[in-house]
Amino acid sequence: MTLEYHNDKLQFRGQDVTNLADQYGTPLIIYDEVHMRDMMRRFHAVLSSHLENYSVSYASKAFTALQMINLLKEEDMEIDVVSSGELYTAIKGGFSPSLIKFHGNNKTVEELEFALEQGVGLFIIDSLDEVRLLNDLAHSPVDVLIRVNPGVDVDTHEFISTGQTDSKFGMSIVDGTALKAVIDIDKTENLNFKGIHYHLGSQLSDPAPFVNALTAVYDWLNDHEIEIEILNMGGGFGVRYTEDDIRFPIEEGFEEILTQLKTVCAQYDLELPHVMIEPGRSIAAEAAVTVYEVGTVKDIPGVSRYVSINGGMSDHIRTPLYGAEYDIIPVKKQTDDVESVSAHVVGKLCESGDIVGKNKPLPSTIERGDYVAVKTTGAYHYSMASNYNQMQKPAVIFISPHGVKQVIKRQTLDQLIQNDVLIEE
Ligand SMILES: *Cc1c(COP(=O)(O)O)cnc(C)c1O
Repeated sequence: MTLEYHNDKLQFRGQDVTNLADQYGTPLIIYDEVHMRDMMRRFHAVLSSHLENYSVSYASKAFTALQMINLLKEEDMEIDVVSSGELYTAIKGGFSPSLIKFHGNNKTVEELEFALEQGVGLFIIDSLDEVRLLNDLAHSPVDVLIRVNPGVDVDTHEFISTGQTDSKFGMSIVDGTALKAVIDIDKTENLNFKGIHYHLGSQLSDPAPFVNALTAVYDWLNDHEIEIEILNMGGGFGVRYTEDDIRFPIEEGFEEILTQLKTVCAQYDLELPHVMIEPGRSIAAEAAVTVYEVGTVKDIPGVSRYVSINGGMSDHIRTPLYGAEYDIIPVKKQTDDVESVSAHVVGKLCESGDIVGKNKPLPSTIERGDYVAVKTTGAYHYSMASNYNQMQKPAVIFISPHGVKQVIKRQTLDQLIQNDVLIEE
């Protein structure tokens, strides 16, 4: 992260964080746009060095906004959506529907109709039921992939592991469901079978599951004489939240994965498919920090210290949800004469589980009015934000080489009640 102290004040990509927090208010999510562009370019570079046909599709659930869509357009990205809302955002952002991919284990009839009407380019069918449903709703042929579960083990949290047989997502290649989907699609009038998709899990740091999935999937394709044009390997490339995390090694990892792809294709005498990948977290997570203002500092003598901030699980749910760890740093540099004290950094919402970080070293002198920055909050933060306790969703700003721009305004109090209907007697 391009986060460093200058004259004792934290700077992010050359911008003074205190000034930004003063100007835009807190909680404030600050993105380094250059970092996101660099990540998109790295994925393009590594795939184009090994393949002729590929695409990089951003999983917009990680973070989406009209300006984010704009950035994706400028960087030749494609987009994954999983709901009418994500699709609407992409289309309102001027994204070509033909480059949008519609995922999800329970796309509703309304969502499928909306996507068909808009001309979405690719549907990723998740179940046998969806084969029938989409075929009935489509009036002319649409391109489809099926989401399969290759049955490979991944080393990540249960809540973000998705490629196993017992999953709410996709169809197993082991139990015959995926094969039945291919056969069923072949009999339909409106579905063009283009290939397969899998998404093994999230926050993966090792290429091994991707390599193993290729072996499993190509053996299966060969056993059943299934031909594909598109192979979508999903996303899940790991990032570094704290120094205990290992980033997915993009260049070396794809070298390994794509070497295996070439091997299995040669083994079965097949041409290389069009390869799709779907990074979300790896593009957005490390690009952002969230800045909060400290309020109450409570010491329980001999037990612990609680540092409360003016946000919490309404804009930071990953720690309460799965114990995710983050680095939290003071915005005013800790000077050498000040000792560090271990503190629980907690939110202001009415749940004991509203914890942003346990046992985080912070300056002993930290007090009301100081700012703290939580690192690596670019993915699954704003997009998972809620209005619990009628908290307003935070503002989001982008730092670009041309300066700072606000891309999402802070929610207003009026917006919190705009859909309420008061029944007058
Ligand atoms: C969530 C998801 C992704 C992106 O995962 P990241 O961990 O953010 O890279 C990609 N594809 C599918 C189908 C997903 O559900």
